Amino acid sequence: MSLPKIDCLIYDLTLPLSKKKVKFRPFLVKEQRNLMIAMESNDSDTIEKNIRQVLHNCTQTDVDIDKLPITDVEFYFINLRARSVGEIVENRYECKNEVEEGKPCGKIMDINFNLLDVKVEFDDGMKDEIQLDNKISIKLKYPEFAVLERGKKFDNKTDMAFSMIVDCIVHIYDAETEEFHYAKESTPEEIMEFVESLTQSQFEKIEEFFDKQPRLVKKLESTCSKCGFHHTIEVEGLENFFG
Ligand SMILES: [Zn+2]
Repeated sequence: MSLPKIDCLIYDLTLPLSKKKVKFRPFLVKEQRNLMIAMESNDSDTIEKNIRQVLHNCTQTDVDIDKLPITDVEFYFINLRARSVGEIVENRYECKNEVEEGKPCGKIMDINFNLLDVKVEFDDGMKDEIQLDNKISIKLKYPEFAVLERGKKFDNKTDMAFSMIVDCIVHIYDAETEEFHYAKESTPEEIMEFVESLTQSQFEKIEEFFDKQPRLVKKLESTCSKCGFHHTIEVEGLENFFG
């Protein structure tokens, strides 16, 4: 006789960057165990692989996790974690307020917050169309989750940055000929050659787009019970949401 199967709730979520709608189930005990082992390893490669796997398992919609923007994946994972384990997380921060000269307070503050309150912060001034000179402009997209995996084959940050830019160019527009050159119709070598031909200041405009891409932020406020200092703490980056 087979044992009964447990039904689970299905949740809906709209991903903030791609605007994709996904349906997901909470993760199961065995998946949570694997995630905890991965988180404890502190190894970003192991953590990414497990996040990809668990999101893939839990997603009930046809969506390729690797093709979602990194921030969407992080936002998705935080929501999945909230629906699976619980919304409230407890983080610890040390009060670094200087009470005497050169002597920080040192009180450990426990601060709880709700994962469902974590929002994506957009930089409104940043556009995905970048004018490089008076005739050439490019359209960029946010790096997708698979970029993290592809980036591992490079042993220096410069090569990694170049490869990410090549990955994120959607098209190059030439106002003189009124022609769009779509990245998917070019080879990566051709795009790399184009990126390498940019001037330093044009290259910096592109870097700015990546520096200012939307990120997950939660602002915490707490008053230290020992010294009375009022702290405003900005939590950002996936790993910092789980203490
Ligand atoms: Zn204090």
